Amino acid sequence: MGVSGWLESLTQYDSQKYIRLQSVTWGWVKCFLSLTVALSICCIVIIYRLHQEMDEVNSSVRTSVKGVAYKDNRIWDTAEYTIPMQAVNSFFVMTNIIKTENQLEQRCPEYPFAKAICSSDKSCEKGSVDIHSHGIQTGKCVDYNTTVKTCEVMAWCPVEPMENPPDPAVLRSSEDFTVLIKNNIHFPKFNYTILNIPQKLNTSCTYNKITSPLCPIFRLGDILQEAKENFSEMAVKGGIIAIEINWDCNLDSWSYDCHPKYGFRRLDDKRINPGFHFRYARYYKLPYGKEQRTLFKVYGIRFDVLVFGTGRKFNSIELLKNIGSMLSYFGLVATAIEFAICIGNCSGCCTSPLYQIYNRKKYETVLNPRQVMYVSYVDEPHITLIKEPLKKSLQRAQGSIVESHSVKFGDAGGCCTSEYSENDSNEESEAMHTPYNHDNEEYELGQPLRQGASSPDCPEWCCCGTCQPTQKYHEQLCCRKKKGQCITTSHWFQQLVLSSHTLNKALLYKDPFLDLTDSSINTQLRHLAYKQYIHWRFGSFDLEDRAVIPSCCRWKIRDTYPKAVNNYTGFETE
Ligand code: ZN
Ligand code: ZN
Repeated sequence: MGVSGWLESLTQYDSQKYIRLQSVTWGWVKCFLSLTVALSICCIVIIYRLHQEMDEVNSSVRTSVKGVAYKDNRIWDTAEYTIPMQAVNSFFVMTNIIKTENQLEQRCPEYPFAKAICSSDKSCEKGSVDIHSHGIQTGKCVDYNTTVKTCEVMAWCPVEPMENPPDPAVLRSSEDFTVLIKNNIHFPKFNYTILNIPQKLNTSCTYNKITSPLCPIFRLGDILQEAKENFSEMAVKGGIIAIEINWDCNLDSWSYDCHPKYGFRRLDDKRINPGFHFRYARYYKLPYGKEQRTLFKVYGIRFDVLVFGTGRKFNSIELLKNIGSMLSYFGLVATAIEFAICIGNCSGCCTSPLYQIYNRKKYETVLNPRQVMYVSYVDEPHITLIKEPLKKSLQRAQGSIVESHSVKFGDAGGCCTSEYSENDSNEESEAMHTPYNHDNEEYELGQPLRQGASSPDCPEWCCCGTCQPTQKYHEQLCCRKKKGQCITTSHWFQQLVLSSHTLNKALLYKDPFLDLTDSSINTQLRHLAYKQYIHWRFGSFDLEDRAVIPSCCRWKIRDTYPKAVNNYTGFETE
């Protein structure tokens, strides 16, 4: 499209054209499907809450663990067993411990792990450090106990024994400890804040999934039970447990619902190296100034509080936006019906005339005018389409049927025919407008009533005996397919195509002040006669200038309305 085409498009609006199928069945199918889509859209909007605006939760968590245990002649209170964690929203409860008391910085034998065991000083390298060792080797091999010798190290001595944690766990009674979780959440979009503690909280409550699901005080044993873990088993080596707080808040006043839902699961892998432990030490100064420490290797359960969730509130713009995006689903109705009709047509089960007419109306074939020609034979009831290039005479070329005569005849009611009818008998006038009579005419002409008188120079492709020889393939066309009478001898050819009376009237109809005595009038009459023939035999259609006039008819018209110099343009093939 050039600039002018683009500018022209600014002054136009293209509206879509539809084909209306008059069918009760499809009408009901359309209604049913449209209703289904409308209902589905409503359901989707409600179920997925597309009428609401969404906001992510912002939260802060505080925890406090309570409980006291008495074990190994010692009181274990909160300060003993809850060790502050570096991570945010986490708390740790000790369940097991390995204590190494009175450690001093000095020389002592290494704990007897595989690489530390020696037989003589040669096995020990001065200054070397193993990944498992507790200190730096001095190069000496000394007795660890009466049976084993190990390399001597410079370390915090005595070294920590590398053994498994006590089983059952030292503080397994921490199962009965409780934790209060305070969770404050905020939805910035809606400026809404809420706490996970209900207004009327019974301070002696304990969380239970069924009986008190909103109580924020949790018994540690219950948490592990919910996470499907055994407390006394997990207490030995420790582990990590997630406490999930899920907020799914509907903040609309008419359907307000904003409560936390608690969930619990184990985070550390049970199969590969399970557990959770770390070390810490307490330091003392001895009277003579040396530092001494007590080393603790503590096992326990780390609880990570994970808060997530969304808040929703009605928003008309959100609703419009989502419904707008779903309106395209109505297109599915049309697609589904088209598909069903297509299947009905293709499978051949629907041979009703409705589908045939529907198909004809729906699909218009666009042909390249330079590559096609239309021919009509008086003894065949249809128009034939022939594709170029021609390898032999047009008369012998294979083509495809495109249209039946009854259709084209309906279009043929031009000015000239109606004028003609005024002057002629009523009987013939009706004949022009009634397709059945037209068929009769075809029948008459289609009959080989008598053999056409073959002229001596009649070409072999001619069947009517009046065509003229020519070298051009596209001009080698007769008015008939089988031998018989020529169409030019028919009454209708005389009256519709050749009659100067008809043609003159048609010219005057177009130009009322036309001078019929003008010298160029023959040319105009000739061209009009060609046109008349095409309208008569083909009707009016898009590619009427690609309709080929048979040789016999062309010569008859030329003879009746000759040109001054005998040089005709003929059918242009391009
Ligand atoms: Zn012929
Ligand atoms: Zn003929």
